[in-house]
Amino acid sequence: MTSLTLRVGDLAGEWDRTGLIPPELLRDLGAEGRLCAEVPESYGGWGLSSLSSGAYTAHAGGLCSSLRSVMTSQGMAAWTIQRLGTAEQSAGLLPRLTGGALAAVGFSEPGAGSDLAAMTTTVRRDGDTVVVDGHKKWVTAAHYADLLVVVGRHEDGAVAVVVPTGTPGVRVERIADPLGCRAAGHADVHLDGVRLPADSVLGGHGLPTALLVTTALAYGRMSVAWGCVGILRACLAAATAHAAGREQFGRPLAEHQLVAGHIADLYTAEQVATRVCEYAGRCWDEGSPDQVVATVLAKHVSATQAAAGAATAVQVLASAGSRDGHTVARAYRDAKLMEIIEGSNELCRLMLAQHALSAPG
Ligand code: FAD
Repeated sequence: MTSLTLRVGDLAGEWDRTGLIPPELLRDLGAEGRLCAEVPESYGGWGLSSLSSGAYTAHAGGLCSSLRSVMTSQGMAAWTIQRLGTAEQSAGLLPRLTGGALAAVGFSEPGAGSDLAAMTTTVRRDGDTVVVDGHKKWVTAAHYADLLVVVGRHEDGAVAVVVPTGTPGVRVERIADPLGCRAAGHADVHLDGVRLPADSVLGGHGLPTALLVTTALAYGRMSVAWGCVGILRACLAAATAHAAGREQFGRPLAEHQLVAGHIADLYTAEQVATRVCEYAGRCWDEGSPDQVVATVLAKHVSATQAAAGAATAVQVLASAGSRDGHTVARAYRDAKLMEIIEGSNELCRLMLAQHALSAPG
């Protein structure tokens, strides 16, 4: 199997400029189980632990954040099916996700961003079918997806329903010129009277919205957190190479103490993000009660470190990194978005404060 490094090569900048990863490459990677590596081997996945999957996600994130974003969506779809679906639904759907079909997950709506309790998408039972109506926004990888996991309101709570994108009534509308992760296939999804078999509802019944959303987002948060570690590693490599190689005032940039300080900050950011992700990964693998808060912490720390670290890397490279397609320029745009998705900085801080306030003193 050709490594991810070779498959991506030096193409990430071009994908970023054109806004497209070749769909056939995504399908090939999907069919090799690379896009949702935690899916058990019995369903055609790699069965990786959270920690091992995290290391792989960081590797992908260092190569190309758009590809890593597609991987996050695929993994989150698989995780949601595995956690909420019946054994029959897992057996039917997961081998498709490890066999080349691509998936995305839609929560956000025009009136429901941070506040997902405000979702208005409905999943209405009608005999042995369900009918889905709504509008999902900014769905990563929807442009490439064969299947969408859509979260909406059902008669007895919130549900996740699996919607093939080819179903009549589904319209996927690409988002033009996103700030970053430009090849991740972000799209708005319009669902107008989409009729599906009733067994498209994962688990067949509703759950409290907060429980459903937290379950699905937990995977996405871990994946984004590790993706940010990858961004930081790519930035650190670019900044150290440049600072060691370029001379100004008769000495390498790295010998100017203020530049060395930037390198130290980047190294610190990469180490801090790595350690919080490793801690959260261990919590997942051990089934620790700290898993939820460790995941939010990992996502928040990694995203903020990546956004700051990418800005530092651009500073060190200066004009050399100030053009579209350069690793650090891409990282600068991509990392900013990581502070918004899967729980914005503000929402993460609220959750961390709530945890700290409720913890025994
Ligand atoms: P708003 O909710 O309007 O928030 C605006 C600002 O106010 C933010 O800074 C927010 O943190 C802050 N804020 C809001 N409420 C509070 C509060 N109570 N206290 C303090 N601050 C608050 N959605 C999907 O469903 N699937 C996807 O795959 C997906 N991928 C995405 C990829 C990208 C690159 C982006 C940019 C978005 C994606 N989204 C996706 C949508 C994303 O989840 C939302 O953008 C995010 O939840 C924030 O919602 P919003 O943009 O509507 O901002």
